[in-house]
Amino acid sequence: NQNINIALIGNPNTGKTSVFNQLTGLNQQVGNYPGITVEKKIGFCKLPNNVKGNILDLPGTYSLNASSIDENVVIELLLNKNDKLYPDVAIVVTEVENLKRNLLLFTQIKDLEIPTILVINMADRMEYKGITLDIPYLEEHLKTKIALISSRKGYGIEELKNLIVSYKSIPTEACLNASSIAPEYFNSLRKAFPNQLLYKLWLVITQDVNFLNLERKEIQGTFTKSHSDLKRLQQKETIKRYQFINDVLKEGLQVDASIAKDFRSKLDRALTHKVWGYVIFFAI
Ligand code: GDP
Ligand code: MG
Repeated sequence: NQNINIALIGNPNTGKTSVFNQLTGLNQQVGNYPGITVEKKIGFCKLPNNVKGNILDLPGTYSLNASSIDENVVIELLLNKNDKLYPDVAIVVTEVENLKRNLLLFTQIKDLEIPTILVINMADRMEYKGITLDIPYLEEHLKTKIALISSRKGYGIEELKNLIVSYKSIPTEACLNASSIAPEYFNSLRKAFPNQLLYKLWLVITQDVNFLNLERKEIQGTFTKSHSDLKRLQQKETIKRYQFINDVLKEGLQVDASIAKDFRSKLDRALTHKVWGYVIFFAI
């Protein structure tokens, strides 16, 4: 009987709590405004082959460049291998309409070299929006396994469970070579911490906060930087990541605007202005 730790990570409003509920059968409250998940929630799920999963529903976070308490909770967990909830497998939940923005966090989690499954949620919206995805292409270039699901309709949940139990076959290759962004800092850091993960060193360089335990304190003297330096390095990282993401999505995601437009004009004709406003409201 195997027990595995699973962490659900993602931007606010991508459907993490809905996925959590699907996997655990619980009915946690979901809301359509950011910040509803203020702390870690744990649930349990039965997976194929008698495997049991401990699932952690983490607070919504946009990136690992910590600027909020919610983000700190996520980083603290992911940097602490001794935490009893440290994930065997991370699930990054994204949604199909905001894939580009959501993938920023995915590439960061991936660079911590934790086996990471990419969930693309809200598949039920693809047809309306004229979106098509080349899943094998995306899996190859994002170096991951993808579950395309709709947590609202319950599509793809069994496939996701199967991916979770076979997490050991998920590549743990990084997306970005962090050292190339700031070689001036990396060379000496590398010498001081030869066995540390590259992206962890990067986080040590770029975080302005003191929760990064021992290493941060040890190197503080040598690597003290101004706030604007830190911001500049974080911006460089973000730009590099979006370059990578844009390249991958250029081939892997197509949007046929005419389909979306056609759908909207049909709706426009069918609905009065007032009702259309409600539709927009509920769609957001
Ligand atoms: P979280 O902030 O990531 O935990 O996201 P929630 O689970 O609270 O969901 C955010 C919003 O997205 C809610 O209004 C959900 O009803 C909606 N939602 C979640 N999953 C789906 C889905 O598969 N399809 C659609 N259309 N909406 C979804
Ligand atoms: Mg939530």
